[in-house]
Amino acid sequence: MEKKIRLDKFLADMAVGTRSQVKDMAKRGRIQVNGETVKKTDVKVEPETDVVTLDGNRISYDAMEYYMLNKPRGVVSATEDNLHRTVVELITGTPEKGKGKRKDLFPVGRLDIDTEGLLLITNDGDLAHSLLSPRRHVDKVYYAKVSGHLPEDAGQQFKEGITLLDGTPTMGAKLEILGEENRKETEVLLTIREGKFHQVKRMFEALGCKVVFLKRLSMGSLQLDESLKPGEYRPLSPEEVEGLRKGRGEER
Ligand code: URA
Repeated sequence: MEKKIRLDKFLADMAVGTRSQVKDMAKRGRIQVNGETVKKTDVKVEPETDVVTLDGNRISYDAMEYYMLNKPRGVVSATEDNLHRTVVELITGTPEKGKGKRKDLFPVGRLDIDTEGLLLITNDGDLAHSLLSPRRHVDKVYYAKVSGHLPEDAGQQFKEGITLLDGTPTMGAKLEILGEENRKETEVLLTIREGKFHQVKRMFEALGCKVVFLKRLSMGSLQLDESLKPGEYRPLSPEEVEGLRKGRGEER
């Protein structure tokens, strides 16, 4: 099977530079393939087995990249934005020595600008599609602080599915009350299986409450690594990627 790709694509995918910058690097003799200096970037290479170096440093090709980000507040879940920093810039804006970050990363789903917590950033469109597909119901667990008085039967109402104020029905969800922080705010864990716009906030709003703090803790089998401070990220382990692939959620 033909798996070869052009050298300029190989290097641009690995964020070494744009295709024209890479061309220039090649002209200057900075790129070698299997020990031979290559001056043209339209040659084809086998990403897994050919050894590509830039200034003597090996560049390995990862077809897919997966990162777990602890999204901080004030950053938008997008690839680019005119006003705010984006979650993708938090990753690509800090290239690590020796290995760039791909240019085609995107967030899997959205967290609101004021929501913190787990966000998967990848370039694996197939995985993203199946995690987000409305027909596959992947559990998402949120920690929230809610102001206002939760009705006595809030747990039951969530279990049966809350009707949002605009009449939209939602699927059953699991509410766990962690305790009252003070008289005004209640700490909860909420597990939902859908991803409607502002869903958690709107579910509580339908019960007359307001979410004052929201953080996502997990998505399917993927749990937020609590050692990551807001704004920090790390690559997923192969086991975490495998877990997401296997447990994408059954079609129900
Ligand atoms: N629900 C919300 O209301 N906001 C989020 O960011 C995620 C889920």
